[in-house]
Amino acid sequence: MERGEYIWKDGKIIPWDDDRAKVHVSNHSFNYGSPVYEGIRFYEIPKNKKGDSAVFRLEDHVNRLFHSASVMGNDLGGYSKKEISDAIVETVKVNKFKEGYIRPIIYFGDGIGIDIGNKSGEVAIMAFSWERYLEGEGVRVCVTSLRKLHPRTTDTNAKISGTYFNSVLAHKEAREKGYDECLMLSCKNAQIAEGSGENIFFVKGKKLITPLGGDFLSGVTRETILTLGKENGLEVKERIVHPCEIHNMDEAFFCGTAVEITPISEIKESEKTKKYETHEITNQIREIYMSTVQGKNDHLEWLTFV
Ligand code: PMP
Repeated sequence: MERGEYIWKDGKIIPWDDDRAKVHVSNHSFNYGSPVYEGIRFYEIPKNKKGDSAVFRLEDHVNRLFHSASVMGNDLGGYSKKEISDAIVETVKVNKFKEGYIRPIIYFGDGIGIDIGNKSGEVAIMAFSWERYLEGEGVRVCVTSLRKLHPRTTDTNAKISGTYFNSVLAHKEAREKGYDECLMLSCKNAQIAEGSGENIFFVKGKKLITPLGGDFLSGVTRETILTLGKENGLEVKERIVHPCEIHNMDEAFFCGTAVEITPISEIKESEKTKKYETHEITNQIREIYMSTVQGKNDHLEWLTFV
């Protein structure tokens, strides 16, 4: 991952190392994990008259960012959705990457009092050039002992930095056991929830199955795959998935803005390991997804040209 040269900070483009992009140790967000953020990708769109690159599903990500800020009871420094969307596009432009990842983050003022009150958000937008997140032809996954935060502890559809300690610890547990990624169960009823920063799909025959939302973040990519799967003749089903079902599925893959579509080669659950030998439908969906983000399919409405 290569970082951009510039950051958009509260209406100005500033150099990456500028002091205005630094946070004081007394900052509320630094102390209590109150920032809200997004992860967004942009892709090169070769030979397109509208621009060299396009941000994928910008509107949906900006909507979620505003939702996350509203959960914290704050706004985004008074900026409108249009202004934040324009700022994201500007950040991509000034950094001159054709393809990469954007990280807008909003954090809240100085003072170590826990009351977030009416602290106005400070907005920073970073850009990176970023290829694959989970490399290779399939990742090794284990179900971790650590579960997702209970939906009564937070809004599971908000991206609030503090809640990510849960993902960080589960990912760490998986890595320490020699796996690439974790699969977490919901705290509420021990059903399959999601990975550390991605949703999961299973394939059974020609059916795509994904856990029913509510107990975890139902991502933009998950929704994209449900739409694309249906449009391409696959049956799609959102339902409760029991951990023991891992062993009866034909294929499994992770999905998310960062990981795109990443095949899973095995999942360890309880004392058993299920190996997924084929990735036929996964590869089909992956191809459709990658063509879509690169503007080679329908759904140009999901692209914001830069
Ligand atoms: N779950 C979690 C916990 C995540 O952090 C992400 C990444 N935002 C996802 C799922 C996938 O969401 P999206 O497809 O919107 O990137």
